[in-house]
Amino acid sequence: MKAIVTGGAGFLGSHLCDLLLKEGHEVICIDNLITGNTKNISHIKSDKFTYLKYDVTKPLYFGDKIDYIFHLASPASPIDYLELPIQTLKVGALGTYNMLGLAKEQGARLLLASTSEVYGDPLVNPQTETYWGNVNPIGPRGVYDEAKRYAEAITMAYHTHHGVDTRIVRIFNTYGPRMRAGDGRVVPNFINQALKNEDITVYGNGSQTRSFCYVSDLVRGIYKLMMSDFYEPVNIGNPSEMSILEFAETVIKITNSDSKITYKDLPVDDPKVRRPDISRAKEVLGWEPEVDLREGLEKTVQYFKSEIC
Ligand code: NAD
Ligand code: UDP
Ligand code: UDP
Repeated sequence: MKAIVTGGAGFLGSHLCDLLLKEGHEVICIDNLITGNTKNISHIKSDKFTYLKYDVTKPLYFGDKIDYIFHLASPASPIDYLELPIQTLKVGALGTYNMLGLAKEQGARLLLASTSEVYGDPLVNPQTETYWGNVNPIGPRGVYDEAKRYAEAITMAYHTHHGVDTRIVRIFNTYGPRMRAGDGRVVPNFINQALKNEDITVYGNGSQTRSFCYVSDLVRGIYKLMMSDFYEPVNIGNPSEMSILEFAETVIKITNSDSKITYKDLPVDDPKVRRPDISRAKEVLGWEPEVDLREGLEKTVQYFKSEIC
């Protein structure tokens, strides 16, 4: 089958390209490199792989039949989408509209990469897919959260009104090799600080929680969802929840670092808790994460060590 991966030169997209090629598919990776890098796909030698530098906020036509569209293009880390607010809104809105138009034209199945951020600063924990969320539309994170909420809405509208075959995955914090060292997310920040014996920057008092999913588990979940017949949103993430302070201590221990913890201001609207309820993924996909935090972090630390050298 022929699959498009938008955002395929990014962190998750590049791992998804690897998985699709391993499963025997032809892959067209489309990316404008706004936050991605071709070095994430430079290891791919397959003649079933094509890379196209393109901005999906512009229409895109293909002569050949496309079977699957994995729509992952979007800035994803808070510092990226705060620096790129308009591009983030455009790719969520116009990019998703174009990819749905392409899916409709081609009779392709489209999977939208949505996010746990649609739940905003959640008032229930863990978050089930039936929770509607608590998002500040005009806060700094609103550009990302509302773009993804709009993307979900237009995806469901194309499903209902145009009969386009669609899937929606709500991705929770994921980490692993090929994250950008400077992307500002907590995993690359803490690991790189620890490896350089610099202070670990905990924002707020570190009592806010997150649940970290290793990338191989995540892309396996995305693939299973695409191959399923389930069109409602599905949470994919690791339900093992910890505070950011505990996470800092874990990173210091795993890297055997001399770093000390320092405290900085908590960003505006930073969610206080986050943990996926993955009952739906277990039930409809038979999916659950397999890689525990220690194993995943060790692999990620190895990656960042090789990047520093
Ligand atoms: P990333 O920044 O590494 O990858 C995103 C890719 O999209 C980049 O390569 C970027 O250049 C590309 N892109 C952005 N705008 C584009 C456009 N207009 N046209 C073409 N390409 C464009 O981020 P990631 O962590 O790999 O995230 C991938 C997807 O998963 C995003 O949609 C993100 O919202 C979603 N997601 C990720 C996480 C996570 O923890 N990593 C959590 C929730 C949701
Ligand atoms: N589109 C695209 N490739 C295609 C078909 C459509 O990029 O092969 C884009 C194009 O920008 C179009 C949008 O998707 O405007 C939505 O297409 P659709 O046919 O659903 O809607 P309409 O153009 O009627 O709004
Ligand atoms: N965080 C932190 N120090 C950092 C980077 C992030 O304490 O150097 C915190 C951030 O405030 C948030 C959590 O770690 O509470 C996860 O942040 P990240 O940017 O990775 O993703 P988010 O889940 O907020 O989208």
